[in-house]
Amino acid sequence: MHIIMLGAPGAGKGTQADILSQEMGLPHIASGDLFRQALEEGTAIGLLARDYMDKGELVPDEVAIGMILERVNKPDCAAGCLFDGFPRTLQQAQALDQALSKQGKTVDKAIYIEVPGEELMKRLSGRRLCRSCQRPYHLLSSPPRVPGKCDRCGGELFQRSDDREETVRERLSVFFAQTVPILDYYKSQHKLIRIDGNLGVQGVARGIASALKAAIK
Ligand code: AMP
Repeated sequence: MHIIMLGAPGAGKGTQADILSQEMGLPHIASGDLFRQALEEGTAIGLLARDYMDKGELVPDEVAIGMILERVNKPDCAAGCLFDGFPRTLQQAQALDQALSKQGKTVDKAIYIEVPGEELMKRLSGRRLCRSCQRPYHLLSSPPRVPGKCDRCGGELFQRSDDREETVRERLSVFFAQTVPILDYYKSQHKLIRIDGNLGVQGVARGIASALKAAIK
């Protein structure tokens, strides 16, 4: 089972992928987390990605594709995985399809979490992440039990540098220009599921679970 989580920055893809990954027992592969991890480790990919991430732009397709395909080929993904933040362009979507089809596999569903633009700005400014396990929080809608500490692992919470206002504006415009076109790509393959992203974390999770159940029967 290969499921893609689509949505603008701040739509809740990471939170929902986390929930779904536990429910379905599939690994959660977040391209942004892989780039941030590579940067912390000081690898060539991490250093290259930093310039794009700081500006809110997309890392070049060939770099993102290479990194994700390497991750997907690891043994824990043998039964499938959940993609969060990938694909973000039509070229990435096609490259993923080609790579999976060589192994007799396919993308099963693409879940698009829809949230209006003004709401996205509000969400991103309150967003915090755990430095150790990457679990997402929001200061207003899903705060940690102890301020500044992760409920799951006790790690330190931080604000991503690309959640600053100017960078957020650029990330949103990149999403609408480069990622929205792939909705049609999955729609034409009858794989697109649209979910209202304004129903709270548990409401959205329930919406996704029931839509997937109905679609995969
Ligand atoms: P995210 O954590 O998904 O918001 O990603 C943070 C940043 O990582 C993005 O703004 C891009 O610079 C980069 N990035 C993540 N995923 C991709 C991708 N699939 N293609 C290109 N760049 C990406």
